[in-house]
Amino acid sequence: MTNIHREYFDWQSIGVHAPGCRETLWEVRTLHRKRYKGGYEAGMRALCRSCSVVRELLASIGPEADPDSGDRLSGTSERTTAAAVVGYGSPAERVAGLWLHPGPPLLHGEPPGAYLLTADRRTPGAPAEVLGIVARQRGRRGGLLWTAGYGYHPPTNTTHGFKSRTAAVRWVAEQIHQNATEEAQA
Ligand SMILES: [Zn+2]
Repeated sequence: MTNIHREYFDWQSIGVHAPGCRETLWEVRTLHRKRYKGGYEAGMRALCRSCSVVRELLASIGPEADPDSGDRLSGTSERTTAAAVVGYGSPAERVAGLWLHPGPPLLHGEPPGAYLLTADRRTPGAPAEVLGIVARQRGRRGGLLWTAGYGYHPPTNTTHGFKSRTAAVRWVAEQIHQNATEEAQA
């Protein structure tokens, strides 16, 4: 008995596009990540940039449960969601000459909690392509403020307390400009 049945019918199409979407292909990415306490996470995510459907399959391998918290560490999960929920795959926005790539919202239904900043509209594929980051922070009276980081992973220079996202992005743009000027003078 060969595995012919498995090869044809146990493997299924990774997802279903939204009604009316004319795209037939998916952008597929894989995840391989070490987790704490010797755990490991492997996954596959399919994204359609046309209808924004995201389909994720994840397997976590490790000790059955965290000895401290009791959280399950091993298992599989799958979900169908939207680009707005994961951030990745959402359209980039241009502010102060930089492109803003949204991250996931902090809470469901909220706007993105952070944005990666690049010089290019293209979705960044490596940390080296990221020029900076801006993130929402809670102010002292519960108000919304923004933190800006120039550089990424880790930022080389960070400033807190901007009143708007635009102001935070402008600060990063200024750091990039200053750095370029200093390098040109050196
Ligand atoms: Zn689609």
